[in-house]
Amino acid sequence: MANENKRIVILGGGFGGLFTALDLAGAGDVTLVSDEDHFLFSPMLYEYLSGEVEEWHIAPHYTELLDDQVNLVQDRVSNIDLENRLVSFEKAGEPFGYDVLVLAVGGVTNYAGVEGAAQFALPFRKIAHADALRQRMVEALDAVPPDLPPQDVRSALTFAIVGAGASGAELSTKMADLLRDAFERRALRGEPRILLIEMGDKVVPGMGQEIRTFVESALQESRVELHTLTRVLGVTENSVRVEHNGAPTEIRTAAVVWTGGVLMNPLILGLEVDKTERGLLRVNPMLQLMVHENVFALGDIAFFADASPTLAGTAQLALQQARLAARNVKSLIAGQELHTKHFEELGEAVSLGTERAAVLAGGKAFGGPLARQARFAMYTSRLPTWHHRLRVGASWFFEGTTPRPLLPLGIQR
Ligand SMILES: Cc1cc2nc3c(=O)[nH]c(=O)nc-3n(C[C@H](O)[C@H](O)[C@H](O)COP(=O)(O)OP(=O)(O)OC[C@H]3O[C@@H](n4cnc5c(N)ncnc54)[C@H](O)[C@@H]3O)c2cc1C
Repeated sequence: MANENKRIVILGGGFGGLFTALDLAGAGDVTLVSDEDHFLFSPMLYEYLSGEVEEWHIAPHYTELLDDQVNLVQDRVSNIDLENRLVSFEKAGEPFGYDVLVLAVGGVTNYAGVEGAAQFALPFRKIAHADALRQRMVEALDAVPPDLPPQDVRSALTFAIVGAGASGAELSTKMADLLRDAFERRALRGEPRILLIEMGDKVVPGMGQEIRTFVESALQESRVELHTLTRVLGVTENSVRVEHNGAPTEIRTAAVVWTGGVLMNPLILGLEVDKTERGLLRVNPMLQLMVHENVFALGDIAFFADASPTLAGTAQLALQQARLAARNVKSLIAGQELHTKHFEELGEAVSLGTERAAVLAGGKAFGGPLARQARFAMYTSRLPTWHHRLRVGASWFFEGTTPRPLLPLGIQR
């Protein structure tokens, strides 16, 4: 069979899947399957929440990124049959056959079985989640009358973020800055209350002490209340129940946002192949499943041994693996030797509110407004396709990246 007729099916259009598809364009009959119509540059979802960036900057449609060398299927994959090399979809009737399969469906929010969390806590992984949170913040602000005493305002505008990894730290500082700005604009009395709740004993446990120092001082400056060694027992529509030192407390909340971890994608749970204890797919150094040489897996669903441990579950890793996966798919089809690669940390960057960030690059950490600019520059270079990078870079440079205030509903711009 001629190479261009080999059916290469890529499941998932995030960091792993989209970048693999971009590299494989024209290498066969390539199909990208995603349940969304757009890619998401998730590291900047916080800036989307605050309006510093726009949807088209970080969530470009696949049709803008891919040319006609890649077929696009927008559907949810419901089943993978590795023995018969078939993929089934929720909407499309007939299953799809493949010669080579690339699995890159990413993870889902891990509510860790906490009572009420899946029902009432807001996840923060997609554009729709950021929209829902922003709306919740505006509604909560709108419901506060201007003459309400400060202690009642504080209670009505209490937001809890669960999980103090990078996501929780970035989100809580961003929300604190946005809400504080809204307080000034609306002349509200007192201040909002932002709780960051963490089961462990420190913030950003996956990061080094150098960057943690910047995160800790940003949390203090933004007056985010950090509660470490605190477990969430339950979430309701308007409260969170926590336990610290064996003492349970119930706190009234305007919203609870869940950034407490990532769980294996249910699609992968059903696959009977070699997995780690955490359910990650074991891949060999060429990114192939152990007994299916025509199936590659990467990103948040795969365990790849030859990578710096800090890279587990990051876009950086998925992005680097995509290059290797695409190269190896081409080699497999051509009957050539496959390659392996060691993956290193490319640097860390966390957004800390609307005016500052912290960046670790070349072993040195720095913070403040300069780090915010560096983060924007760093991320411009990691967006997909030259064309999109140029458009976004020009937009950020010429039109700026000023936050969009939480104006009352009805006068949103
Ligand atoms: C808010 C947030 C901020 C983050 N910030 C950073 C950061 O600063 N730095 C960093 O390195 N990492 C960051 N991460 C982690 C990073 O986003 C992930 O590690 C990375 O996206 C993993 O890539 P992936 O390709 O495995 O999965 P994803 O990028 O999640 O892509 C999976 C894709 O598969 C699709 N999909 C899922 N199930 C199905 C199905 N059944 N059928 C069809 N399609 C499906 C999804 O819609 C999605 O498009 C962040 C994550 C989040 C949520």
